[in-house]
Parts: sequence; C-alpha cells; structure tokens
Amino acid sequence: MKKLLALMALALMSQPAFADEAPKWSLAIHGGAGTLDPKQMTPEKRAAYEADLQRALDAGAKILAEGGDAMDAVKAAIVIMEDSPLFNAGKGAVFTWDGTNELDASIMDGRDRSAGAVAGVKTVKNPILLADTVRTQSEHVFLVGKGAEDFAVSKGFAVTPPEYFATPARREALERLKAEKLSALDVDHKFGTVGAVALDQKGNMAAGTSTGGMTGKRWGRVGDAPMIGAGTYADNRACAVSATGWGEYFIRVGVAHEICARLRVLQGANWLFPKGAEPEQGDRTYQSQAVADAVMADVEELGGDGGVIVVTPSGEAIFSFNTTGMYRGRATSAGVNEVAIFGGEEKASATPDH
Ligand code: ASP
Repeated sequence: MKKLLALMALALMSQPAFADEAPKWSLAIHGGAGTLDPKQMTPEKRAAYEADLQRALDAGAKILAEGGDAMDAVKAAIVIMEDSPLFNAGKGAVFTWDGTNELDASIMDGRDRSAGAVAGVKTVKNPILLADTVRTQSEHVFLVGKGAEDFAVSKGFAVTPPEYFATPARREALERLKAEKLSALDVDHKFGTVGAVALDQKGNMAAGTSTGGMTGKRWGRVGDAPMIGAGTYADNRACAVSATGWGEYFIRVGVAHEICARLRVLQGANWLFPKGAEPEQGDRTYQSQAVADAVMADVEELGGDGGVIVVTPSGEAIFSFNTTGMYRGRATSAGVNEVAIFGGEEKASATPDH
C-alpha cells in the first residue's frame, strides 16, 4: 500500500507544467473569414460547411485525445479541408488571373520552431504535406513554384493534374471579376483559406495554413498564408496562430508572430494584472483574447480584414475576426466541441478548465 502511494505521488509530481491538472489538449480550425451574409446561407449550404468543418475538427481532436502530436493533428485537419471543394485550399482553390490554381501553404512546429512553406504550387494535392516535407527533409524553410514541384517529385509526391483543383464556382468567380472589373473581395466575399492550431498533451504546439490565395491574383502574387510570421506561427513558449484574410495587410503587421511575441511577454511576466483592473482581466482567456483582438485591430487600422485562430500553452482556443463571420471550430480536452460560422455563435468558454 505504502509503495502504491509512493508511486502515485511520483506520478503526480511528474505531471506537466499545469501541475495538479490532467494533461490538456486543444485544437482550433478555420476555413476562412469574410463578409458572410446570413441571408445567402441556405440551410443546405450551412450544413455542408458545418459537416466538413466538423470532420476536420474530429480528425484532429481524435489524434490529440489519444495522446498524439500537435503536428499530426494540424496536418490531419488541414488535409480534410484541402480535399473539400468548399474551401479555398487544395481542391476548390480560387483562380489566378491567368486561369490557373496556385497553392500556398506553411506549417510550424512550436517545439523547435522548425518550419516549412511552399508557394505557387500547381500540381500537389495537399500542399500542407509538401510544406511539412520541406520542414523535415530539406535544409530550407520556403520553396516556390517549379522548384517546389521538383522537390515534391524528388520526395515521392504524385503529380496531380491541375484540373483536379478547379471547381465551377471558382471559375465563375474569376469570370465575374474580369467581366465586371471587380476586386477579389467583391467576388470571394470570404477568404476561404484553411488553417489549424493545436496544443497536445505533451505541451507541444503546432500551426498550419493552406490557401489558393485571392481570385484574380497576378504576377506571382503570394499572400500571408505561406509566410512564417504573417499567416502561421508556433512557439511552445507563447502560442500557435493561423490567419485568414487580406494577406497584404497580414504580412505588413506580421500578424501571427506579433500575437505570439505579445503573448510570450505576457506569459514571461506571469500575466499582467494592471492596478485597478476588473477581476476578469487577470484571466488568461481574457488576456489572450485581448492580445489577438489588439493585433487584429492593427490590421483593421491599416485597412485590412480577416481573422485568426490562436491556441495558448494553457489550452485557450481563441478566435478573433473583424469580418461578419469566420468558418471555424474548436475542441478541447474539457469536452468543448463546436463549429460556428457567424460572429458570436460559440456556446462554450474558450478555456479547457473553465
Ligand atoms: N490570406 C489569404 C491570402 O491573402 C487569403 C485568405 O485568407 O483566404 O492569400
């Protein structure tokens, strides 16, 4: 009996950082933010989006619940959304001005801040997996265009025919953009980029983002999604972030790194609790949300819009967006499991232990 008690005490002592609590995991996903109009969202359309978001969320959550790696959860969730024609990533990517689909993706491991990214890829079914292969099997972080495709072939990726990515709805959007001289924002209405961020039971974090960019993009335009620090960032000491929105603004603000940098300072200071603050302002969820909102406000001030998903080392799963909606979902070890589209639809608290 004594021996058993001693063993139990030892087991308790070797728990991870959140001392007396069971190991936590947390996952957030997005399928793009934008000016979504509730009136144009038929029940069928909504059900289709929610079903694919839920499948992506469940795939990642299963890995985390079973003790798997944050990196694997992020990839599993993103691959499902890349394969869905509903999102602007992989199949269903938007068209460039020249009528092609050019894909960008990036991924980052918060353990060692190793990262991989690709841009302007036309023949790789799941760009997020190529980005991860750049991370693990090359000495580089970022490969573009034909070079990235040659690298893919050298690593055994199948060459996917470009027609695979094309969908009638995206082609129609390009035609409308050209005929009516519209901007990408007018025809896309939403940024259908996909992303995932995760915290696993070992306390490791990961982030990934994948996109077709913006309709009618020209001259090799690349947005924030494949840029480490802009669209994607993960650092075990701070957080994991994936962004969606008007990429040029997210690059200028360095959104994903900016959020992580601010959170790292806050966590290093053991969270700030300003004198005279309301009690809830000392709360980690409150402060994490405030940091994400402040950086998104910066994007808005410059004229940009979009959103981010953030997971913190203590398991908060945060959304922040300045558009009317963001396709999104989150699941945590405390039983939170929800997908949402328009603003304010969440039912649960963002924190696993609340
Ligand atoms: N951020 C992406 C880009 O600018 C677009 C999106 O989020 O859908 O390429």
